[in-house]
Amino acid sequence: MANEMRGLTLALSKGRIFDDTFPILTKLGMEPLGSPEASRKLVIQTKQSGTRIVLIRASDVPTYVRHGAADFGIAGKDVLVEQGAEGLYQPVDLGIAKCRMVVAARADFDYLGSVQHGGRITVATKYPNIARNHFSAKGVQVNIIKLYGSMELAPIVGLSDVIVDLVSTGATLKANNLLEVEDIMPISARMVVNRTALTTKGYLLEPVLRKLEIITNSISL
Ligand code: ATP
Ligand code: MG
Repeated sequence: MANEMRGLTLALSKGRIFDDTFPILTKLGMEPLGSPEASRKLVIQTKQSGTRIVLIRASDVPTYVRHGAADFGIAGKDVLVEQGAEGLYQPVDLGIAKCRMVVAARADFDYLGSVQHGGRITVATKYPNIARNHFSAKGVQVNIIKLYGSMELAPIVGLSDVIVDLVSTGATLKANNLLEVEDIMPISARMVVNRTALTTKGYLLEPVLRKLEIITNSISL
């Protein structure tokens, strides 16, 4: 794919990933010269001349990097596990955008009872692959309903028995009378690198990765 040969393109999503990555980029000498809030620009230059940031949906980051439209990017483990990370080199866990993937249900839903009695439960989620693998490892039969957001609503209106979603403080679950009933995995954001760029732009990427290792070892993971 056509991409700047002499500089680097970093794929980032706006919101918490951009915000949590900002201090790391600053330490790397790649401070963004602009913010997603301040303008609608989808390409932001950085303090390191030639290095630019492209702003895309969190779930599109692996696609841009896999195709080499971005040399590297930052993606949540949720997105990487759900989509599979084939073709992507994952050198560092940045320890940012931390949360957990959980199963949650309405307080009046007998989750353990349903699971123990071998009943089939309906699961609403943005993460069908993670959900399917989780329940199949437990031998629980499920119907999965794919949603694109606001998962918390599904059990309230009877679309599903449970949801598989990310939680950090638990405030959203609580506000919707949902309880966490099972932990699936801890989540944090990782750097992903295009494998070809690692060779063709190794002289640009390797110093970044070396510095990142030092930075991430000094922030608590
Ligand atoms: P959109 O909100 O545009 O539909 P999205 O939900 O994928 O997209 P974000 O909500 O910004 O985008 O989430 C981006 C990433 O941040 C997720 O992939 C996940 O790794 C992480 N994340 C999501 N929710 C939380 C949370 N509550 N606490 C910490 N990190 C989170
Ligand atoms: Mg979101």
